Amino acid sequence: MKHADIKEILISEAEIKKKVKSLAAALNKDYKGKKPILVSVLKGSVVFLCDLIRELEFSPIIDFIGVSSYADSTESSGVVRLLMDLRESIVGKDVLIIEDIVDTGLTLSYLKRNLLTRKPKSLKICVLLDKKECRLKKIDVDYTGFIIPNKYCVGYGLDYAEIYRHLPYIGVLKSEIYRQQK
Ligand code: 5GP
Repeated sequence: MKHADIKEILISEAEIKKKVKSLAAALNKDYKGKKPILVSVLKGSVVFLCDLIRELEFSPIIDFIGVSSYADSTESSGVVRLLMDLRESIVGKDVLIIEDIVDTGLTLSYLKRNLLTRKPKSLKICVLLDKKECRLKKIDVDYTGFIIPNKYCVGYGLDYAEIYRHLPYIGVLKSEIYRQQK
């Protein structure tokens, strides 16, 4: 059932499920016999991470990193801040960043730069959603779920002012919801 604040469902629950399985199949092939550290970018990627790891045939280590660039708005501030660091050392390890969405590319380029200084054995990126047309910084994504248009999305872990993360699909909010909260 569509939430009353949602204008349109961009990607359904069934489509997400299918895509997560196909991303996991690619990871199962590429990381066979390895024990990579999956670095989940808080908070948006958590739902994606939970579904993804249950499709994996290898046992990953999971860790979390917190960054912020939006601060309760729908446009990137352009300033990326590290809010919470990893617990694990990634020196000499295979590392896979798990991110919900790439938009300007600022967050992932910051993260990539930051994690590479720690000398991992390998560093790859897996994103569920890619707003390709919004890119300000070039970033190579190794595993991409869906390429989507430049619309502010919520659901499946993605929020607007901390709301809507629980929705099982990816949707676009009605514009009056933004107006109410501004
Ligand atoms: P970037 O740094 O690539 O511009 O943006 C990455 C971050 O911005 C994501 O981790 C996510 O938190 C946020 N973001 C970008 N687009 C959207 C969107 O459509 N919806 C939500 N909820 N967050 C977004």
